[in-house]
Amino acid sequence: MKQFRSNVIRAGLEALYFTGAHHLFRPVFAGVGSIFTLHHVRPPREAPFQPNRHLEVTPDFLRAMLAHLRSHRIEIVTMDELHRRLTERDFSRRFACFTFDDGYRDNRDFALPVMREFDAPFTVHVTSDFAEGGGSLWWIALEMVIAKASTIEVEIDGGLRRIDTSTPAAKQAAFDRLHDRLRGLPGRNDLAREIAALCDRHGIDQAAICGELCMSWDELKPFAGEPLVSIGAHSITHCNLAQQSAEVASKEMSASRARIENAVQQPVAHLAYPYGDKLAAGAREFALAKAAGFKTAVTTRPGMIFPESAEHLTALPRVSLNGNYQEERILPVLTSGAATAMWNGFRRIDAA
Ligand SMILES: [Zn+2]
Repeated sequence: MKQFRSNVIRAGLEALYFTGAHHLFRPVFAGVGSIFTLHHVRPPREAPFQPNRHLEVTPDFLRAMLAHLRSHRIEIVTMDELHRRLTERDFSRRFACFTFDDGYRDNRDFALPVMREFDAPFTVHVTSDFAEGGGSLWWIALEMVIAKASTIEVEIDGGLRRIDTSTPAAKQAAFDRLHDRLRGLPGRNDLAREIAALCDRHGIDQAAICGELCMSWDELKPFAGEPLVSIGAHSITHCNLAQQSAEVASKEMSASRARIENAVQQPVAHLAYPYGDKLAAGAREFALAKAAGFKTAVTTRPGMIFPESAEHLTALPRVSLNGNYQEERILPVLTSGAATAMWNGFRRIDAA
């Protein structure tokens, strides 16, 4: 299913590019600006099994995107500046914001040098448990378990099921199946329990993953002092906020902000919802983020920014820079708004 979805997205991007249709979309769907979503930025890896590859782009692709924006006179601005432009209705020039979720160390080591080449500001949304070293990057733990094993056993409906993970294709299929199943588990601790059991059975040290990949508080403090860097919040535990009680969801937002502010000694005014899709952030979460006092909160719903986005500052859509589509020719398609318009059903605002 994932592969099918991926092929449909690719076909759509290619069709828009080759027909030139994105030029027709631009006046109507490009909006006044866009917010890009990134996760990892690092050199490409060779491994045949990379189920999380959509979450990483290369420094070269990031550089190509920035050069493309510059050549089209699109200004790269902070989230504070986006907030100002929306609230003051200042749309004299198109703008783009860059946001990086989770707080990966490669944001400092690979993204920052590229952003510096363009003097381009960006926001890193930090998950406080990841910076603490105690969080669960379960999608990476799952990748590591499946990469290592040739078969895995998972408890499904009360019985142990054996799943083949002996070839790259089988590994990908197993990952897709288990990823969706784990994300869909209803209980607050179900996901943590199941991934811990898998890691135990297959000798994966889940606790080490945060330290390997994410910036610690000690690293975040000087990073936050970089002139181009703003730090935003991305919850405490990276849970699906929509699955939590209002009280817990609200605490995930405001307590993570307090922890980050305390660590980096700077105000934190912007939030990214973990996962950020419709299953993880909806009207209740948008209201909670507003009540918690965030100036903006971003989803992963696809879309561009329009003047009327000012009415929905805690439900802002973004454009994903997806590691599976790193051809330079798709850049004008992404900035035209054509791709996101197609994916969100030609809506300008999707905030319900
Ligand atoms: Zn995240």
